[in-house]
Amino acid sequence: MIKKDILLGAVADDMTGATDLCNTLVAGGMRTVQMIGVPRPGDVVPDTDAVVVALKSRNMQNVRAVRNSLEAQDWLKSAGAKQFFFKYCSTFDSTPRGNIGPVADGMLERAKGDITIACPAFPTNGRTVFRGHLFVGDVLLSASGMRNHPLTPMTNANLVEVLGEQTPYEVGLVPWETVAKGAEAIREALARLSGEGVRHAVVDALSDQNLIDIGRAAADLKLITGGSGIAMGLPANFRASGALRRRKSAARLPRAKGHAAVLAGSCSEATLQQIERMKETAPAFHVDATKLGGKRDIVAEAMDWARPQLSSQPVLIYASAPPAEVTKAQRKHGRDKAGLLVERALAKIAKRLIRAGVGKLVLAGGETAGAAVNALGVRALMIGGEIDPGVPWTMSLGARPLHLALKSGNFGAPDFFTKAFTVLD
Ligand code: ADP
Repeated sequence: MIKKDILLGAVADDMTGATDLCNTLVAGGMRTVQMIGVPRPGDVVPDTDAVVVALKSRNMQNVRAVRNSLEAQDWLKSAGAKQFFFKYCSTFDSTPRGNIGPVADGMLERAKGDITIACPAFPTNGRTVFRGHLFVGDVLLSASGMRNHPLTPMTNANLVEVLGEQTPYEVGLVPWETVAKGAEAIREALARLSGEGVRHAVVDALSDQNLIDIGRAAADLKLITGGSGIAMGLPANFRASGALRRRKSAARLPRAKGHAAVLAGSCSEATLQQIERMKETAPAFHVDATKLGGKRDIVAEAMDWARPQLSSQPVLIYASAPPAEVTKAQRKHGRDKAGLLVERALAKIAKRLIRAGVGKLVLAGGETAGAAVNALGVRALMIGGEIDPGVPWTMSLGARPLHLALKSGNFGAPDFFTKAFTVLD
């Protein structure tokens, strides 16, 4: 249930990607709520301008991914959404079977649209699109680390071809020369492509200005698809039409209460560095992954350690480890089981920390954050101010509000963990 009609309704194919989109919309002046999983009829959302539904549909079987996305879209429509957005990764993470094409087709049809755009460009993070080819920094997507991704290896950088394999419909291109001419030229190009029967237009973009112009040109599209960058231009459309009020900040959260803690399960370099930095000034407990699943109750040990010091300072509990230690745990338990044991242990610790009075919690790692948020039963988040690019503070909605920062492994500066709490005060 929602108190007032929303303007933009978005469906994201993963959790931290959803938060990233929320962050962009809030920076543009839209009050935004993130919902976790397909919203249920009883879910209550306060007065807000945009809702982003975080699914876990990137690697699902595509029939299920489409079904979940359409259920989310129907809920967003019933909440009043005037325009829909399908958010995927800026590296276009998908396989020849999908799920970008099938979900975009389903949502476009449901929204009764003729054409949509596909634009994963995010120049600030080095993702640009030229002649329909996606670059990651200085190299083509197909030459980047994404070519070795375990689930969605990207071996072709030509998005017109990649998307063409995922949809039975025509895929076209709005080239950079047109984009550089501005919003009107882009709008005309889209109208022409639509007249030719094209349903997906990959749009080149090399700069934030390009993204803003594409956003303006997309004002009347029923559905937009892309990364979080393309959302930069959307708030201005709603302001221009008078639907969105100008306000000083769209990022206000109520004051945080309770103790502070960081739980880390990401083994990425950025997170390992952030852990080292926090250990210089804060007490830290290492969850040894090789000891999980045995006789010792590591969760209880972590809590016995944490409880007495919670009231005086932020504490750090981490399973994160460098590659050699991860390999050791994986050899002992098997690859998937090691990850699962760690996720379960950290999720249990998250629950007990909250019970022990923690009200401000930083979760590091996409899967780690997903597991903990689910264990906590969090269904919706209000979005606050940014800590570092792409990572805002959020607050859970419901009986016992909790301030949460969900950090995808590689995001954030080395002082992220300590800075996070000072930003909040
Ligand atoms: P990122 O955002 O960096 O990918 P994730 O949380 O998504 O971080 O993924 C990290 C995975 O590694 C999780 O499944 C986590 O449980 C697992 N993990 C964390 N620490 C260890 C460890 N010491 N040994 C084995 N696996 C670990």
